[in-house]
Amino acid sequence: MKPPVFSCCQFCGASPESGKRLTKTHIWPHWINNILELHPTCDVISIDRSNPKNPTIQEKKRHQDIFTIQPRMTCKSCNEGWMNDIEQNVLNYLKPIISNNWPASLSPEQASNLSLWLALICMNAELASPLSNTITQNDRDHLRKTGTLPSRGWSIIIGKNEGVFWRKRKGYHNYPSLDSGIHRGLSQSKNHISYDKQITTFGIGSLFAQVVNGRDLSFSDYHSFHAKRLGFGVIFPSQRNSPLLTEHLPVLTDEQINFLNSQEPWFSKIY
Ligand SMILES: [Zn+2]
Repeated sequence: MKPPVFSCCQFCGASPESGKRLTKTHIWPHWINNILELHPTCDVISIDRSNPKNPTIQEKKRHQDIFTIQPRMTCKSCNEGWMNDIEQNVLNYLKPIISNNWPASLSPEQASNLSLWLALICMNAELASPLSNTITQNDRDHLRKTGTLPSRGWSIIIGKNEGVFWRKRKGYHNYPSLDSGIHRGLSQSKNHISYDKQITTFGIGSLFAQVVNGRDLSFSDYHSFHAKRLGFGVIFPSQRNSPLLTEHLPVLTDEQINFLNSQEPWFSKIY
C-alpha cells in the first residue's frame, strides 16, 4: 500500500506554490528508532459494524513503514512551524523517559506538551494510512490554531512500561471502532469510512501511553475517569496545577498492557 497523495496541507489547507510540492512529514521522529532496541511495528484492528448482527473484524497492517515513511501531506509552514515546535517542546524529557530515566515529576506544562505530541502522532499516522479515520478536520484545526486539543473528546494517559515485548517492539496499536458517517477529507483524499472513536496504545521504550479520541464524548470521559482512579497519569484533559509525580505511576507488564489494549475497551469492563 502506498501512502496517500495529497494536493494540499492536511492541517491548514494551503496548496504548495506552483512547481513545488508539499513537504515530507515524519509520522514518528527518526531519533526514536535510534533509542529503541527494535523498531516499532504497528497494526490495526478494524471492527466493521455496518451490519450490527454480524460485526466483522479485520486485522490490517497500517503502512508497514509508518515509522519511517514521510508522506507529503503538510505545507512547509505547518511542518517546520507549529508541528516542529510540538516535538521540540518534549525532547529534553521525552528521551530520558523512553530510556527509563524518568524525571521525578512532570510540570503541568510538560504533561500538556507530551499529550500534544502523542495526539499529533495519532493525527499524522491516520492521515498517512487512512484505513479508517476518526480524527476530524475540526480537531486538526483546533490544534493548529490554538496549540491545544479540544476540551472534550480526547483522553490521554501515561504509565511506565516494563513489558519486554511492548518495550522492544510494539510501538503503536490502534483500534478504531464503531463506524459512523463519512470522513470529511480534505483535497482529493477519498471519502474513507469514518469511525467515531478510537483507542491508540503506545509502548515507546519505558513509556506506556494510551490515546482515546472521538466524537463520542462519554467514551473519552470514561477513559480518563477510570484511568485516574487506577493511578495513571492523565495528561489530557489536564488534571492538575501541581506536578505529576512519576514515582506513583503504574508499572505495567506485557500482560497488563495487552489487557489495556484488548479489543473490548478495558474501561467498558469495569463500569
Ligand atoms: Zn499547512
